[in-house]
Parts: sequence; C-alpha cells; structure tokens
Amino acid sequence: MNYKQQLAVIEGLGIPPDTQIRMDCPFCQNKNTLTVDTTSNNLGWYCFHASCSARGKKQGEKTMDYVNVTFKKEDVNINEEFVVPDSFKSVFSSEKVLRYLHDNNCWEACMWARADIKYDVKQDRVVFLVKNPDTGRYAGAVGRGLNSKVYPKWYMYGNKDIPFKCGECKDAVIVEDCASACAVSNVLTGIALMGTSLKQSHKNYLEPYENLYIALDRDATNKSYKLASELTSAGFKNVKVKVLHEYDLKCYSTAEIEEMFYGRSK
Ligand SMILES: [Zn+2]
Repeated sequence: MNYKQQLAVIEGLGIPPDTQIRMDCPFCQNKNTLTVDTTSNNLGWYCFHASCSARGKKQGEKTMDYVNVTFKKEDVNINEEFVVPDSFKSVFSSEKVLRYLHDNNCWEACMWARADIKYDVKQDRVVFLVKNPDTGRYAGAVGRGLNSKVYPKWYMYGNKDIPFKCGECKDAVIVEDCASACAVSNVLTGIALMGTSLKQSHKNYLEPYENLYIALDRDATNKSYKLASELTSAGFKNVKVKVLHEYDLKCYSTAEIEEMFYGRSK
C-alpha cells in the first residue's frame, strides 16, 4: 500500500486529536503492533511488526492550540505590560509600610531605588513591583499583607513567571521572598522566586553570576538542595546552598549578611 492509501485507512480509524494509541494493525492484521499518534496536530502511524511496512506521518497545520501547547500560554503573554493600579500609593502614605520596610531591612533598597515599592491601599499590602528585564517595563507585583486578616499573606499581581530581583552585584542569592531580596541587595543581588519551585521561565531570567547562592529558610533546606541541582543541571556555575540556621535573610542587617557570605575580612 502506498502512503496515500495508508493515510486513508488511518484517517478512517477516526482517532481523536491529542491521542497516542496502540492497536491491532489494519495492514498486517498483527495484534497490537500499530501505534497512532495524533498529538501536536499531526497524524503519525508506525507498525512494529517486522513483516509490515505501515508507517507515515501527516503534518497538520500549526493551529493556535498547537502553539499554546508547545510554547505554553505563559510564555506567549510574558511581555504583556502590568498596568499599575490606582490603589498603589507611595510608601510614605502608610506608617505601617514604612515600619515594615524598616523592620525587614528593605529601607535602603527602597531609598536607593533598587526596588520599586508601593503601598496597595485597597488590599493593605506592601507591594514590590517586578520588572521585565527584556522590556524594562513592569510585569507584575508581589504584595505582602500588612495585617493578619489579609489573605493570602503574599499575593502576586500580574505575571508570575518573572522573579523579583533587587541589586546588581556579581554574586546572587535566591531567597524566600521579596523583602529578603531587598535586605541582601547591598551585598548580593537578591532574587525571590516566590514559591520554592523553579519554573522553566525563571531560568531565562537568571543571568550567569560568579556565585549563585540559595538561601531559603531552614525548613526548606531540602528544597534548597533540590533547587541547586536543578540550576546546576541547567548550566549555572558555582551554585551553592547557604543553610540559614535561625531566621530568613530579611532579619539580618547589611553587616551581618556581609559577614555571613564573605566573612569579616571583606
Ligand atoms: Zn502492521
């Protein structure tokens, strides 16, 4: 049977899209030797029986479904600009925000404009704006609730695929949250993934650093090591886990962080 005839037989099977199936071969009649694959908008078939030459592939058109499945929707929308809501006000409009920034060692990062920090009046959150390094525009924001009734404690506005980054140092550290990223930014570039798992999209936003530390809180030490091996296998060099014995990094002053990473001598 030629390609066209085979194709007609396979199409006649009426196999639904996005299916991988193994079945009896209609060409050689052998049991369970034919695979048909209709994923990615293609139609492919192959018989494993030695005596059978049934095989072929019909390339479908690249539909939007295919594009979305292959490139994932999140990547398609990644350059969408985040429109800063009217409810985001200056940090000076809230005493609570100023206190939070001070208590969590974010004050300097805010004052030196290493981080764009706002107060969301509507949700009562201190908000860290996330920039898309490719477009230089806002891509989203991460908000920390300022009273115990605000749920969830951390809330993500807009794009969730770009990590929050603070500082431009040669070494970087992956931390638990935005406040910690700000707290370290005098000494190291702070990167907050917001969630301890690393998404594929995150990797695209991590540049090569001389040293890339991972310092999640001590309950997440196993996750830190898992993250380290993921980053190493993704090609990042000098990935090191820094085990935090007591608190997370936002509880430490610049001097303490310097000592923790570089020792007193620096
Ligand atoms: Zn066959």
